[in-house]
Amino acid sequence: MRILGYIWAGPNTILAVLVGLLLLSRFRLVDGVIEIHGPAVAWALKRTPVSALAMTLGHAIFGQDVAALDLTRKHEHVHVGQYARWGVLFVPAYLGWSAWLYMKGRDAYRDNPFEIEAYAVDDPSIRQLSVWRE
Ligand SMILES: [Zn+2]
Repeated sequence: MRILGYIWAGPNTILAVLVGLLLLSRFRLVDGVIEIHGPAVAWALKRTPVSALAMTLGHAIFGQDVAALDLTRKHEHVHVGQYARWGVLFVPAYLGWSAWLYMKGRDAYRDNPFEIEAYAVDDPSIRQLSVWRE
């Protein structure tokens, strides 16, 4: 079943590797997931709508640096599992939820069911860190 998850999320993972190569990033493999970091990745992540420490794309995680990858690994691995289940439909499903929540006046990030599932595994101390959002 795990192989099917890799295949199903494969296009997202390949896209992540290509972006990582374009950004001249460093790569490493941790627990079956590609971790990608470097100055350009950090620059880009700081400019996402929620100023992310890390972001998952398929079986790959972009992190601002190694410390950010270590801090967010449990949370991001929940997203890896979501990609394995949803595959190429994950991004449209995630953005669809966010758009629907935004139109309802809710928090498009924190109220997103994919994030609620991922934040549930984080330690409470990490959940409260202001660096998660600016
Ligand atoms: Zn998340």
